[in-house]
Amino acid sequence: MSETLVLGAGMVGVATALALQAQGHAVTLADRKAPGRETSFGNAGVIQVEAAEPYAMPRAPGQLLRYGMGLSNDLVWSPAGVTSMAPALWRYWRASAPARHAEAAAVYAQLTGRATVDHAPLIDASGSENLISREGLALVFRNPAAFDAEAANAGRLADTYGVTSRILGGEDWRREEPALRATPAGVVHYTGSWSASDPGALTRAYADLFERRGGRVVLADAGSLAATGSGWRVNGPEGVIEAAQTVLCLGPWTGAALHRFGLRVPMVLKRGYHAHYDAPLRPRRPFLDTDNGVVFSAMRDGLRMTTGAALVAHDSPANPRQLTRAERQVGDLIDLGPRTGTPPWFGTRPCLPGMLPMVGPVPGQNGLWVNFGHGHQGFTLGPTTAALLTEVMTGARTPLHDALAPATQLA
Ligand SMILES: Cc1cc2nc3c(=O)[nH]c(=O)nc-3n(C[C@H](O)[C@H](O)[C@H](O)COP(=O)(O)OP(=O)(O)OC[C@H]3O[C@@H](n4cnc5c(N)ncnc54)[C@H](O)[C@@H]3O)c2cc1C
Repeated sequence: MSETLVLGAGMVGVATALALQAQGHAVTLADRKAPGRETSFGNAGVIQVEAAEPYAMPRAPGQLLRYGMGLSNDLVWSPAGVTSMAPALWRYWRASAPARHAEAAAVYAQLTGRATVDHAPLIDASGSENLISREGLALVFRNPAAFDAEAANAGRLADTYGVTSRILGGEDWRREEPALRATPAGVVHYTGSWSASDPGALTRAYADLFERRGGRVVLADAGSLAATGSGWRVNGPEGVIEAAQTVLCLGPWTGAALHRFGLRVPMVLKRGYHAHYDAPLRPRRPFLDTDNGVVFSAMRDGLRMTTGAALVAHDSPANPRQLTRAERQVGDLIDLGPRTGTPPWFGTRPCLPGMLPMVGPVPGQNGLWVNFGHGHQGFTLGPTTAALLTEVMTGARTPLHDALAPATQLA
């Protein structure tokens, strides 16, 4: 019997397996697919130390009206998606009130602030330096008023959390980024963030490191998870896997898995798409086109454009309208070139209404733990919450551990 089973081999599960292994646990990492093939595969690849404040639900009536009428490319929705997530969206709305969002941000900033520090030894030990760039993340504005507002926000983030940035006029930015075709009103360059040119490959490289250090990676279906009396058991093609303890790191699928154990954890599932383009010039740094709600990242497979959120039913078919709309509108700023590879990828940001990941023991289930709900920043935060989970599993308890605990968040 393995000592600890980690279910789910995205960035969060792989990092959790590595952290437990480093603590001396004999760990089996199980997934129904190979490591790093789901959400951790298709994201924008940014290790976002600038994201000190989690993504709140906009509450301004004008903004909500724009979303409702489908006028913004940042967010689209379907009636079935909004209806199925209504309880979670209602909680998300309440948690996004300024005072509660500030409380969540005070916790979140402690996670994002150490994200690159926690990734660094894994990048080094897994031999992944060739995948990493340390050039920051840029927010590009066509609209001068929006630029001024973000410049002020960057100052506030620097004062409050120590987030580093540069504020540049459009001409200055174009000198640094010849891939831009036009001069924007201005750019806020968050300098501390890192990025990966293939997020799935980085996740796989971490999983390979886990195996080289003696860990076991197997196929198994979390749907078969059952308590045995002395621990936990799942079934896979290689047979039954038993373990004294199990950690669920199933990203957007974790809420459904917990439901089987009598726990209702409402999740806001924000779908996003990506496509690749054979752009004649690629940007040096990933950037957000703030007018069109898409991020551009230079990847090994081409220029990747990732979209904002689609609030749609988790199992609904692909409808990459945010990609096609952006394709029509971004040409003034960057020459995309032809789209390569088909069809567009999509995945789901695993968001919890309180905007904090859930890390700790599952109430009422002996030996069952969770590490999930990293929303917009799971690629960033995998190694950080993995370290926190191992601390909790060895009995540590600080206000930070308490804030992330399932019991606190479900209260
Ligand atoms: C468009 C987009 C852009 C993003 N950009 C960024 C970014 O730039 N930076 C950032 O930090 N984050 C970004 N994110 C968010 C980030 O990708 C996620 O938060 C993160 O990948 C979640 O990791 P995870 O390991 O929790 O989930 P996943 O990577 O989805 O891993 C969950 C694993 O569980 C497995 N699984 C599910 N069900 C079962 C089952 N029944 N049995 C066995 N295994 C199962 C899956 O196969 C999967 O491997 C983005 C997300 C999207 C959609």
